Amino acid sequence: MIIIRYDEIGLKGKNRIYFENELIENIKNQIKKSGYESHIERIRGRIIVDSQAPLTIYSKIFGIRSYSPAIESSLDLDEIYNSIRNLIAEKKFKTFRISTQRLWKGYEKTSMEINEKIGEFVIRDFSKKVDLEKPDLNIGIEILNDRSYIFTEKYQGPGGLPYGIEGKILMLISGGIDSPVASYLLMKRGADLTFLHYKTNDEILKKVKNLINIIESYAPKSLDLIVEDHRDLLKNVIINLESMRERKWTCVFCRYSMLKRAEEIARGLGALAIGTGESLGQVASQTLNNISVENIATNMPVLRPLIGLDKIEIENIARKIGTFNTSISIKGCGCPFLPMHPITSASIEKFIKLRDKALKPNEKEYSEVFEKNRC
Ligand code: ATP
Ligand code: MG
Repeated sequence: MIIIRYDEIGLKGKNRIYFENELIENIKNQIKKSGYESHIERIRGRIIVDSQAPLTIYSKIFGIRSYSPAIESSLDLDEIYNSIRNLIAEKKFKTFRISTQRLWKGYEKTSMEINEKIGEFVIRDFSKKVDLEKPDLNIGIEILNDRSYIFTEKYQGPGGLPYGIEGKILMLISGGIDSPVASYLLMKRGADLTFLHYKTNDEILKKVKNLINIIESYAPKSLDLIVEDHRDLLKNVIINLESMRERKWTCVFCRYSMLKRAEEIARGLGALAIGTGESLGQVASQTLNNISVENIATNMPVLRPLIGLDKIEIENIARKIGTFNTSISIKGCGCPFLPMHPITSASIEKFIKLRDKALKPNEKEYSEVFEKNRC
């Protein structure tokens, strides 16, 4: 059995039932997705899973605070102790503590009384010492309505909210380090992601697919990727800006066009927001000035969970969630559309002045422009 704990703070009435049901459904589906069966039960603020799935799966299910492989026992103290005796017989330890949590308050003994009683038995049979501060072995007992669970290990889950509970987000993914981390953080807060990638080449697209495979291991279902051609998106803009001698505006228009198109797609999907991996001031296109101009592309919320993180912090999360190595696996050759001196302090008035002309449909052949920008 696996006993699963989740945060109950802020979970009241209907919300709580909804949260628990979603979490249970996600656990079931995530286990099924990895090829295992499960039987799941909810009692007293705990979820009990019976499954052969590897333990690590629970570290990838959002909403789980911690989990323990556990033995089920009755509410009888002698029986509880018998189970404990079997459980710890083979374990090597000098010091121990008993940590009881009584989730069912109707139980006749207090947690303290149970700790003392079971502690006495362990001292009597094993001649070990109690250490409340740093025991070699921590024996946990959780008392539920009609049974108890006993365990010696407690692993951290990822926390957060059950996958998908907040609704759909269209996530812009580029194949770099940042957008997979942003995806993870949005999923952790209950977003259901569909990905959108503006393709520049096959190699990067392959990398994006590999990244989505990794990100998907944190979700109870497979996640869709929509691919559009980055050159098609920017065709008119690049030619027009070139002829206006305003190529320095490329990044701002690129981002504006990405968001504008993303909004159309998002509305079609019933998504409520767009997600990006932008972090304030990280690169030329991500100054506050530029972001505020680019953002007029859409009325939809654009969620940027990395906005206040610096590169080191983002990389640490990327390593932790397993996307870092894939993100850096193909360097690519940077953005093929990047101008010599991208504008960093876009003015909204100037942008609006340029906009109509810059976005105007253009019949011109654009291969020469792009040939120049190939690496
Ligand atoms: P990343 O590491 O995610 O590539 P970055 O630091 O390289 O981010 P930019 O290239 O400026 O930053 O991109 C910022 C964000 O814009 C990305 O995190 C992503 O959400 C989105 N984005 C950039 N390029 C693409 C693309 N080709 N397709 C889809 N989204 C993109
Ligand atoms: Mg990028």
